Amino acid sequence: MDEELLLIPGPTMVPAAVRAAVGRRMINHRGPSFTQLYREVQAGLRRVLGTAEDVLVFPSAGTGVMESAVVNLFSPGDRVLACVMGEFGERFARIAEAFGLRVERLVVPPGRAVTAELLAERLGAEPAGGFRGVLLTHNETSTGVLLDLAAATRVAREAGALVVVDGVSSAGGVEVDCDGWGVDVLVTASQKALMTPPGLGLVAVSRRAWEAVEAARLPRYYWDYRQARRSGEKGQTPYTPAVALWFGLREALRLLEEEGLPAVYARHRRLAGAFRAGIRALGLGLLAEDAVASPLVTAVEVPPGIEAAALIRRLRERFGVVVAGGQGELAGRIFRVAHMGAAREEHVLRALAALGETLADLGWTKGPAEGRRAAEEALSA
Ligand SMILES: *Cc1c(COP(=O)(O)O)cnc(C)c1O
Repeated sequence: MDEELLLIPGPTMVPAAVRAAVGRRMINHRGPSFTQLYREVQAGLRRVLGTAEDVLVFPSAGTGVMESAVVNLFSPGDRVLACVMGEFGERFARIAEAFGLRVERLVVPPGRAVTAELLAERLGAEPAGGFRGVLLTHNETSTGVLLDLAAATRVAREAGALVVVDGVSSAGGVEVDCDGWGVDVLVTASQKALMTPPGLGLVAVSRRAWEAVEAARLPRYYWDYRQARRSGEKGQTPYTPAVALWFGLREALRLLEEEGLPAVYARHRRLAGAFRAGIRALGLGLLAEDAVASPLVTAVEVPPGIEAAALIRRLRERFGVVVAGGQGELAGRIFRVAHMGAAREEHVLRALAALGETLADLGWTKGPAEGRRAAEEALSA
């Protein structure tokens, strides 16, 4: 069997050059080499996140920096609107609740997006400033739906709310323009479209958000953005940085620059289009409609009569293709395939070929080679 092909929506495949960088000799995190590393990583992150400000970097999972946004921006009792398109949107709402915010939810069914119209309607029913913040998920990894973040941000800002974005699986894979769109805080992590091993949480903070950080009354210590900013001015972090992952991230950012960010985003759209064409040709359903489908991860409906767990296990055992199941209420109903970060055409084609064979093994009667063929056609168009 070929090497395992890791197509779960994070951690994603890590390119060889990034893996090599992670293995470099350790350096003094308070010395000039780290400061140099700090500055190079900052330059790359600013371009990927569309911000002129320093990006704060914590040793953390994505969830940690989601929590950091809540404790740095808000005070107990603040009213926030959580836009929920799936599991990760719900997680953001629960974090806010855990810290004593008054959370209301705008929920859409799985596979749908929170549109600017829906958000405007919900916010329009409130007095101006009725919500202190709006929590958004840019790319809802549990359903494979991409939010129109520029439009949602505009609407939320017009209503006077702080715009707080979970961009954990979007940054590096689709355009993010924090300053241009007026996002207040966007958090992301190393292990998704940034194709670096897990362990770094990244936070873009707008000028306006810094005022909110000063005014916020929730307790914080490790996550205090003010402390991180002060250290950043010296090219350092307040506590020991995950140096090896910084080496990796610098290399990953270099790879993104080398390909060119517009080309990276176009590749993701091409791969998603080809994968979706392949899934349709195999006769399977897609959870997200085309108009809101994520270019980074696709949720596929498991056909009746086939057990999701058996399908996923067989894909791995027989073909070495590793995909993810559904989360929460979607467990057993979908499986999810990522095509982000280091993913290339050959990976999408291998996944579809393996899926066709696996489905045939499980009694599905559509032609097993049709998926790969349709994707090839889409890619050559
Ligand atoms: C993966 C992911 C998270 C959680 O990241 P962890 O590192 O597992 O905490 C949050 N939001 C989105 C959209 C994600 O894709």
